[in-house]
Amino acid sequence: MVSKRENFTARIPAGLEDWVAYRLVSAHQRIVNPLILGHLLNTILLVAVFYGQVSTILLGGCAAVMAAACLYRFSVGTSLRKGKQRINARKAIAVLEINTIIMAAAIGAPLVWLMPSASALQQVFLAVVGTTLIAAAGYTMRTLPRAAVGYIATISTFMIVGLLRTGKLEALASCILLGASAILLCRMAMTAHHLFVVRILRERDASSAAETVKMLLNDYEDHGSDWLFELATDGTMIGVSARFATAAGIKAEDLEGRQFSSLFEDSSESKLLRDHISQRRAFRGMTLKLAGGKKSDPKWWSINARPVASVSTRVAFRGVISDVSAEKQAEARVRHMALYDSLTELPNRMMFTNALNRAFAELGKKQRIILMYLDVDQFKSVNDMYGHPAGDVFLKAVATRISDCVENSKLGGEVHMVGRLGGDEFAIMMVGEDAGDQAIRLADLLITALAEPYMLGENELNSSASIGIAIAPEHATTAQVLQSNADIALYFAKGEGRNRWEMFAPGMDLAVQQRHAIERDLRSALANDEMRLFIQPLVDVETGAHSGFEALVRWEHPERGMVMPLDFIPVAEETRLIIPIGEWVLRTAMAEAASWAEPMTIAVNLSPVQLRSPNLLPTIINGLAETGLDPARLELEITESVLMHDCEANIVILNRLHALGVKIALDDFGTGYASLNYLRTFPFDKIKIDRSFVTDLDTREDCRAIVGAVISLANQLGMQTLAEGVEHEAQLTKLREQGCAMVQGWLFGKAMPVAHYNLERHADADVVIEQAPAKRRVA
Ligand code: C2E
Ligand code: CA
Ligand code: CA
Repeated sequence: MVSKRENFTARIPAGLEDWVAYRLVSAHQRIVNPLILGHLLNTILLVAVFYGQVSTILLGGCAAVMAAACLYRFSVGTSLRKGKQRINARKAIAVLEINTIIMAAAIGAPLVWLMPSASALQQVFLAVVGTTLIAAAGYTMRTLPRAAVGYIATISTFMIVGLLRTGKLEALASCILLGASAILLCRMAMTAHHLFVVRILRERDASSAAETVKMLLNDYEDHGSDWLFELATDGTMIGVSARFATAAGIKAEDLEGRQFSSLFEDSSESKLLRDHISQRRAFRGMTLKLAGGKKSDPKWWSINARPVASVSTRVAFRGVISDVSAEKQAEARVRHMALYDSLTELPNRMMFTNALNRAFAELGKKQRIILMYLDVDQFKSVNDMYGHPAGDVFLKAVATRISDCVENSKLGGEVHMVGRLGGDEFAIMMVGEDAGDQAIRLADLLITALAEPYMLGENELNSSASIGIAIAPEHATTAQVLQSNADIALYFAKGEGRNRWEMFAPGMDLAVQQRHAIERDLRSALANDEMRLFIQPLVDVETGAHSGFEALVRWEHPERGMVMPLDFIPVAEETRLIIPIGEWVLRTAMAEAASWAEPMTIAVNLSPVQLRSPNLLPTIINGLAETGLDPARLELEITESVLMHDCEANIVILNRLHALGVKIALDDFGTGYASLNYLRTFPFDKIKIDRSFVTDLDTREDCRAIVGAVISLANQLGMQTLAEGVEHEAQLTKLREQGCAMVQGWLFGKAMPVAHYNLERHADADVVIEQAPAKRRVA
């Protein structure tokens, strides 16, 4: 319940009494001059009206007291203004209250004293003086309520007494009116005082809150990572802080009055920002890119703001900005990492696939999409031979060559994208009207460019690539089908001997499926004992005798029948199944040769994958030990590709094998990267001249020349020569003329099961043969 008293007396918080008193007395002092002047005027008029009619001494005495009181009151105001009275405000009020009573007495006493003897007009004058003073006091002393009440009570009492002294009945009515007015005025004065105190306390609260807020905000600006901003109704910046200016990189005075939205790059977001501001809508977390920033270091701000309802200031929007550039950049990095391959900086599988899907969605009527899948043929070897860091350098070089080729083959208006799908797989997409012709030109260009030697540090490296091409809408109407067809074409290109491109064609998928089936079945072939060892005789040209046999593997598939090596060795190499298969051939061939009564040689083909297998040496050493075969009777055939990369590691292994006493033959000489220089890289025991030279020996002069050169160089280097694929007498004659020592071919015998050649064996041979075929599970 609010008591009546509380209506008039505001509750002043402890400690604020002096401050309130100071405000009260100061407020009073601001209007003290009219008060003083009014009293002096009244006093002078009083003296003037009654001068000579009453005792001059008494009249002068009252006037003097009034003058002194006024002077004193004035001096209190002066000293208060000088600021000395802050602590003594309450004392000042007490002093002023006494001063007020003295002033009231000085002017009130004559009213009592002069009223009865005054003329009617003089009585009116006195009544006017009294009521005017009471009314004026109610106003001028409203901040000093006790003084006001004291003053009003004193004057009205004096007046009532004066009126009653006239002894007239009418005076009583004036007295009643006067008393009632006095009470009303006192109440008004007290209410005014109360309202004044309440107001100043509220103001004080409000300003201290504002100060606290300002202090906190300053602190926030100084120490926080965010800063504040204010906008006028027209969206221009006002009250731009130093921090804001620094963050924007623009002088505060230049920002002042400028459109806030002009700070940002044009975008849908910046348009939205303008809308929010113009429609006075609050917004949160709007992220905008600052205009005119450095490309390498873009600045992003996140903005929260709300409209401000204020009539007193120009501020229409107020908000907080934080610099989110670091987050944005991190986000961009993550996005980049998600879409680009970190090694080559090319789009990754995800981005490439997205782009392809987009291309399908946006494909124009006359347009075509060309998809090329590109696979580096020898990447695994590079990785194995030189290690992963070198493999990375190699891949980067491949990526650069691909990008350069695509760049160089570019025609206007066509969309190209090069991506790395993973490992050594790359992809190229082209969209355009005449993209079909371009694709073929580009594929040719790529095949040539990627077959150029690479320099890996000191090492010169040869590699090549296979490419599968598929075109939409001819080969596919969806991205998935196009991808799978490009994949099939690539698989086909690899199957067709690599270093080539293949365009997808219907039916290819069947071939690829077959290849997949081969791969699947090959995994269980060894365990199912489906490998067969065939042999083909190596013949001495002079004597015509069998000096040895070449081991040639066959796969006896339960459904396919006899599968030829060319149909499964490439798959086995790719899947590394060639390692266990090759081990089986080695063991079986060594056991076979060891069982022969004649000390003929057995030649075993080694693929590059096998050569790098750490199992190779142990397999050979164990095989030799187990079978007791003379190492000199074992001949290992390797192809140029093993030497192609000028590979130290391979030469080291060949030397180790040589050290065991095993013979090394260079197979298929003249194919691939035929170079007589290879003959100098390793002291081969035998060079096998490829069948392709022998076939044309009797018809082509250049073939004769090459074969002649090889034979003479090999002879000089102390290497034996063997010509492969001799099918006719004529070929044999030519070879004999050229000085070729050995021959192999259908003219002397095809690759046949061991039993076919009916070889003479040691007495204990059966035991060996039975032990030989190692039944091993293939991983
Ligand atoms: P290669 O080492 O050049 O073997 C010679 C190939 O030529 C054999 O084919 C053989 O049957 C065939 N050939 C022999 N004389 C004639 C002839 O007068 N005319 C014709 N047209 N062909 C003849 P094959 O057995 O199909 O082997 C193909 C290739 O498979 C071999 O070529 C060899 O590179 C690979 N290979 C065979 N067995 C193995 C093996 O055990 N391990 C590895 N790594 N590769 C093997
Ligand atoms: Ca061979
Ligand atoms: Ca050969």
